[in-house]
Amino acid sequence: MSKKKQVFEPKVNGQVGMYVCGVTAYDLSHIGHARVYVTFDVLYRYLRHLGYEVRYVRNFTDVDDKIISRANELGEDPISLSRRYCEEFRQDMLYLYCLTPSVEPRVSDHMPQIIDMIKQILDNGYAYRVEGDVYFNVDKFPEYGRLSGRKLEDNRAGERVAVDSRKKNPADFALWKAAKEGEPCWESPWGLGRPGWHIECSAMSAAYLGYSFDVHGGGMDLVFPHHENEIAQSCAACKQSNISYWIHNGFVTVDSEKMSKSLGNFFTIQQVIEFYHPLALRLFLMGTHYRSPINYSDVQLESASDRIFYIYQVQNI
Ligand SMILES: [Zn+2]
Repeated sequence: MSKKKQVFEPKVNGQVGMYVCGVTAYDLSHIGHARVYVTFDVLYRYLRHLGYEVRYVRNFTDVDDKIISRANELGEDPISLSRRYCEEFRQDMLYLYCLTPSVEPRVSDHMPQIIDMIKQILDNGYAYRVEGDVYFNVDKFPEYGRLSGRKLEDNRAGERVAVDSRKKNPADFALWKAAKEGEPCWESPWGLGRPGWHIECSAMSAAYLGYSFDVHGGGMDLVFPHHENEIAQSCAACKQSNISYWIHNGFVTVDSEKMSKSLGNFFTIQQVIEFYHPLALRLFLMGTHYRSPINYSDVQLESASDRIFYIYQVQNI
């Protein structure tokens, strides 16, 4: 948040609370995901090496538009589809030698906590209800934009998506969405529905680490809007909410473009480790400063493989 290097100081002596945003489980993970979790695995291991007792929380998003549309395509229940991909992800993490976090909460198991937090935000006057939806009112939170450096007037939501005229400000975002036909839904004081994406991480981090903890991380694409919205929600629910360090890793690029599902230029972890040792992939991902982009290429993977081979050879002498 300060955009400066700072000496790490835990809130509680000898202990670290760390929350890292996890995957939306609707497909196999690609090496852009691998980079996120290898980055935070290195941090997790290093903090433990320094003697800290680390509570590492990494969530699974198992309620989401992408999961629902994938499940509808396949004629499968969305929760069971996402459970399947959660297990695939866990297996990928084992291949990559990533330690298992202390807690791996799922959204579908935390509806009471999510609903309680939305109630709190409404009670504190930071949100409003429209026909079964609940929106966060960004105008009530003057610090909005502090993490990303964006100003509200920069958002110009209408340029990319049709502005929802029911919102007070186009930048307002959904905390709760009224149920639609064929979607999983839960009971709430605002009727049947499901949470918006951002509220889950505010609710689950508070549930396992409290409102004040040390490290919150994820990929750089989460700075805005996800983490910006998380800060707004958590502070609106609890004034004492405070995170000491926001950490965001850089992208894996292919021909200088971000590797992503939506661009279709990705390789899954499983595709890559069919040809290369998982440790070669891990070494490749660790070969650059965590915030810099890494360009994926076979040449880089070959060279990481050679280095891993060399390390094993030297070790055996
Ligand atoms: Zn998150």
